[in-house]
Order: sequence, then structure tokens, then C-alpha cells
Amino acid sequence: MGCEHAQAAGGPASPQQFEENSLSEVKRVIAVLSGKGGVGKSFVTGALAVELSRRGNSVGILDADITGPSIPKMVGMSGRRASGLGKLLLPEVSSTGIKVMSSNLLLENETDPVLWRGPVIAGAIRQFWSDTSWGPLDYLLVDMPPGTGDVALTVFQSLPVDGIVVVTSPQDLVSMIVAKAVNMADKMNVPILGVIENMSYITCPDCGRKIEVFGTSKLDQVAEGYGVKVLGRLPIDPSLAAACDAGQIESALPSDLLPDAIAACEAIEPHEVADGFTPAADDTADATKA
Ligand code: ADP
Repeated sequence: MGCEHAQAAGGPASPQQFEENSLSEVKRVIAVLSGKGGVGKSFVTGALAVELSRRGNSVGILDADITGPSIPKMVGMSGRRASGLGKLLLPEVSSTGIKVMSSNLLLENETDPVLWRGPVIAGAIRQFWSDTSWGPLDYLLVDMPPGTGDVALTVFQSLPVDGIVVVTSPQDLVSMIVAKAVNMADKMNVPILGVIENMSYITCPDCGRKIEVFGTSKLDQVAEGYGVKVLGRLPIDPSLAAACDAGQIESALPSDLLPDAIAACEAIEPHEVADGFTPAADDTADATKA
């Protein structure tokens, strides 16, 4: 393919790209980005993974939030350690079949801090891509570190990212965050699939009215200004926060929470199956052992 998106669409890898191993066949890679921590980027990553998986897709989550990993806990993997298959790592597999690789699955103790500097973090991301046996995956969601710093840059330069979902919250400086994401996406030649506003409102438990706690959202104007789609708005829902804390996002997530975001993911053209791909027939069996 000769166009500027050739690489993102599965064309020849650039010299900077980390190589995919022969036991992985990842058809689509979607990065979930936010301007800062705490806005619910990991929650949205988990929610997208659950919805895509419920629709019959094989789904993985690469937790690139190396110093603040929260995906394993959300899907009930607290205390588990990733296992190996020869020289490769095996992702852990959740109760509904979502595969996860995260720095928390490599630590002795999940409360250990990850005091790694940039190059070591980049090395971990290489391990999570090149040295992890993902098997066949319809979607790999990448839970990015917050912001648009050097780790984010490493991910975009090194993995064949097909699209970006930006997560904002109403307290954010939405305009600045969308602008930074658009600039980064342009530089990296990766399309932005759209923006999801998390913690957008609360629903009154008595009358069902939506209350915009942080004032009227400016997202629509901002998104329109940058030509970016709004893919959904999620309420503040304490029961979902509790479910994430208890490792039960898969059973607690309401159905059809983010239909437009799922449609945007499904619209991505899958990467072609590379010659020489060997399905890792036994990896699920190994990886599910707690
Ligand atoms: P980030 O990845 O942006 O740092 P997280 O996804 O870890 O943020 O979310 C931060 C905290 O907020 C977590 O405890 C999570 O369960 C909670 N949370 C996220 N989104 C919601 C929501 N829509 N309603 C209630 N709690 C939420």
C-alpha cells in the first residue's frame, strides 16, 4: 500500500517497529489515550474489551500504563503472575477469555512500585508486544500511559496502531487534550476514532434526570472544531467503580454501553494474516492457570 497509512493498516513495518512474533496474529491495534490520569482511561479500555469480547471477538489488552497498571485488578487477576512459553511470555486470561499483559503480572507483589525509567519502560512495551504470545486476536487494546509523553511516543512508533480512542472527563481542559491528541495522531499517521467523555453526568436515582455535575459539556463544540467524532458519554456510576475494584467488570458492565465506539472499532480493516503464523494451540490452557 502506498499511502501514508500503509503501516497502520498492516503494511511493511518501519525500522523502528517492534517485530511481532510467530505465535501472535493481531488483526487490529487500538490505543486508548487520555490527557491525564484518573479520568477513566483504563475503565474505558476494559469496557471496550468486554463489549468486543461479548460480540464474539478474541480480545487482548496490552497494559502500557506501566507505572500505573490497573487492568489486571479490573478483570479479577489480582495476585496472578504471567507464565512463560519457551522464551515468550503468555498473557493471563480472564474468566471470559480476555487476554492481558501488564507490568503488574510480572511483579512479585502487586503493590510493589514500578520505579523504572523511560528506556526500561520502552523495553517492557517491547516485551509485551514482541515477546508475548498473543495467539490470534481480533483486537488488541492498548491502555496507554496518561498524556502524550515519551512512552506514548514509543507505543505509536513501535506498534502497528490502527486507531486512537481519546478519553476525557468534563473537568479536563478538553480543548487542549483533544488538540494534543490530534497533533500526535497526525504526526504518527494514526487516525483518531473519536472521543469518549467519561464521568460525564450522574443519573438521579429518584427521578432519572441526568445531572451534569461539572457543568455543561463542551465536548461537542471542541470535537466538531477538530473534526473528531464523539463516540459516547458515560455517567459516573459508583456501582461500576465498585465492580472494577472487585475485579468484576466483565459481569457488571451493562450491555451496549458504547455502541458508537464499538462500531468505530469494528470499522477498522483487519491486518492480513502474515505468512508463517503458528496458532499457539496450547497457550490458553497454560495461561489460564492461576
Ligand atoms: P485512568 O486509567 O484514567 O487513570 P481509571 O480507569 O483507573 O483511570 O479510573 C480511575 C478510578 O475511577 C477507578 O477507581 C475507576 O474504577 C473509577 N471510574 C472510572 N470511570 C468511572 C465511572 N464512569 N463511574 C464511576 N467510577 C469510575
